[in-house]
Order: sequence, then structure tokens, then C-alpha cells
Amino acid sequence: MTRAGESLALAGGRSFWTNRELRPWNDIERKSPLTREDWRKACARLVSFRSLYGALFEELREAGGEVVSPLIAADAFAAALGFDGASGGRMFVKGDHALPVGGSVKTRGALYEVVSLAEKLARRGGELAPDEPPEGILSESCRAFFARHTIIAGSTGNLGMGIGAAARALGFRAVIHMSREASAWKKERLRKLGAEIFEHDSDYTSAVEAARADANVSTTSFFIDDEASTELFLGYSTAAEEVERQLREQDVAVDRRHPLFVYIPCGVGGAPGGVSFGLKQVFGDDVHCFFAEPAASACVYLQLSTGSADPVSVYDYGLDNRTIADGLAVSKASQLTTALIAPLVSGVFTVLDEDLYRALFLASEKAGIKAEPSAFAGALGPCLLTQTLQGRAYLAAYGLEKSLPQATHLIWTTGGLYQPADLWRAQYERGAELNAGLSRQTPWSET
Ligand SMILES: *Cc1c(COP(=O)(O)O)cnc(C)c1O
Repeated sequence: MTRAGESLALAGGRSFWTNRELRPWNDIERKSPLTREDWRKACARLVSFRSLYGALFEELREAGGEVVSPLIAADAFAAALGFDGASGGRMFVKGDHALPVGGSVKTRGALYEVVSLAEKLARRGGELAPDEPPEGILSESCRAFFARHTIIAGSTGNLGMGIGAAARALGFRAVIHMSREASAWKKERLRKLGAEIFEHDSDYTSAVEAARADANVSTTSFFIDDEASTELFLGYSTAAEEVERQLREQDVAVDRRHPLFVYIPCGVGGAPGGVSFGLKQVFGDDVHCFFAEPAASACVYLQLSTGSADPVSVYDYGLDNRTIADGLAVSKASQLTTALIAPLVSGVFTVLDEDLYRALFLASEKAGIKAEPSAFAGALGPCLLTQTLQGRAYLAAYGLEKSLPQATHLIWTTGGLYQPADLWRAQYERGAELNAGLSRQTPWSET
């Protein structure tokens, strides 16, 4: 199939695209603008922030300031989705839906970037001596200093919750520009933290533009750029060490004969990109990273599958960017991320809103997981990989068919910790209904 043909096959439905530009890890590593050293430094820095995090957030105190989410065995969940574990391998959920403070996968990146920025400003402003540890920024005088500065971000909700929480905890003014998809409860939560919310009747790309313009008018305002931030990207990438440790604790091997497949929900591409960049540092060619998008907001799918050098918008392809997955409702991919991930992502697939509802229902029934719809975009990944022509062709091309029974699949869930119970309940009911109406035949057998 031609590249254009693959993109057209999307047409707002389920689709599975595999990346012909995928490079071997040692080749990527040699050419990547971000290096292994950058990643190592970010991981070390995160460790140096722990006592600071613990002091700032009660939710993190028990874990000693570590931002950590559970790794949950989920074979029953996978089976209910139509995955054959005996021939396809073991299933886990990496539960970033339960990350405290921000309540989503954004927490690691948001905390990392805001605290890094605070430390830098404090040192530059003479509030923190060069030899003083980062905890110095908790002083009253630093707090007063931060209060004269504003942190600004554009968000569909979850990035705002992470950045707002971190900025307010340190004493900054926080201004969050929200796109039209942002849920009312996310705005409410932020207002309670003392953040100022600007509501836009436009999509995410426009909200980010407004936030950027807002920050440009003042020298004490700092814009956290979801579309172009290396710090956010590196913050996300620190999840990889955690996964390595957790897999080891569960006696799960990852090597040539035991491949690891990871499926991560994708908006602009920063969070899944950063996580994948980190995972490649740890597992190299033995990890295969797939991104998952709602069919209506398939911006990374289109950006990569068309191979376009210019930014591609979903509207140009007749998609409307309307989805229940508010965290993923993005019309344009991050260009920074696209460049970094183009050689390392194995593929991108799209799912329908009804798939999200159904996975939300089954995750609760089979694995006791409660998360928001966006969190489940990756859930069908193992089925699509093992049951579609495109998926099987990928497995064959990389000689993975034989090792599939020894494989591990990781469905990355990405948000929902603070979602109100009544809202979740309604989504659960909808998922139950859809699940009951489904015939036993897998609905995606060929995309
Ligand atoms: C933001 C978000 C993602 C994806 O992150 P991007 O950096 O936008 O690709 C995934 N899941 C949820 C719930 C999110 O809020």
C-alpha cells in the first residue's frame, strides 16, 4: 500500500500504521539531538528533587517524594478485549492514570519542568546560592520571589492540572489557557488550587497560541510549551527506569527472545514520545513502542504516515477532532516530538470513542482500574498488533512471531485519578452497554 493510501484508509475509523522509517537503536542514538547523557541527567535530577517533591506534596510523602505509578497484571482485561494470551504473551497495565498531583501521565513532565524552572529562576535571581540544594526554593523569600512570576500553559486539561498544581505549590501565579474540550471538573480543580483559567472556544492548537502570546508580553511570565519543550519530554522519559525496576520485580524478562510491546495514548506526542525515548534507552531494540490516538484526532498518525515536512492538521484530512478523549483531542502534532520519534516509534493506531468506553468498562470489571476515557486509547493495541494484516506484517518483518508467546505487552493508562465518581459511572454504564451489544466476533479483525 502507498503511504497516501494508508493515510486515506484512516477516514475517521480504526487504523493501524507501522513505521517503515523505524531505525535500529544504535543508529538512532548516534543521530538523536537528545542524548543518553540528557536522559541520565534527567533521571538523576529527578532523584535530587525527591525530598523537594515530598515537602511540596502530601500525596508524594509516603513514597519519599517519588512520582511512581503501579504496574498491574492485566491478563483477564486483555482476554476480555479479545486478546489471546497463550499465543500472544502476557499483559500488564502501566497505571499512570493513578499518578498523584496531576492525576495523569503529565505529572512527571509537569513537575520536572516547573521545579527545574523554579530552581533556575531562583539561582539567577540570587535567591538560591550556587552550592545550595534545590530544597532551598521552599524558603519564604523564594516563595515571595516566585509570587512575582507567572507560569503559563495551554492545555486540554491534564497538562494544566499538572503544571497548575506544581506552580501554585511553589507560590507562582499560574495561568492556564484551556481548549474547548477541557472538562469542567478539571477547570474547577485548578481554580481551587488558585490557578487562573482562560477558557477558549477553540481547539488545543489555538489555546496554546493564546498562551504563548500571553507569555510574550511580560519578562516575568514563562510559557511552558507543550509543543516544543525538551524539559517536559525528558521529564516523561524518566518513567522508563521505573518500568525497568517494576518488570524486574515481577520477574519479567525483556530481551531478544522476550520482546516488550508498549501502547501509549497520544495527543501532541510529547508524553508518549518522552516515555518511548526513555524505554529505548533501557531496552533498545527489544522494546516496540506504539502510539494510540482517537480516530478523529489522528494528528501524529497523519504527520508520520504522510511523511510531510510541514505541520499537518487533522482538519485538512476531513477529521473533526471531536472525541470523548479530551486529553488527546489535538489537531496538530508537536514538531519537536515528531522529529525525535520519527525513527523510534514502531507504529501509530487509531481507535473509536466506543472502544474507549468499552475498555473503560472492562478495565474496571477485570482489573479494578478506574480511569478516564483518554487513558484507554492503547487498550486495543495488543489485539490490533496480533490480529490485523498490518500488525502481523510488522511482527513478521522483525522476526517476532516465534517469540510472541514469551512477549510482554504494556498498556499505558494515562489519566483519571481525580475524575468525579458520577462522571466515571456514566462512562462505565455506556461501556457496559456497548460491550453487551457486541457480538463475539472481534470488531477490528481487519482495519
Ligand atoms: C496529554 C495526555 C496524553 C498524551 O500526551 P501528549 O503529550 O499530548 O501526546 C495521553 N493521555 C492523557 C490522559 C493525556 O492527558
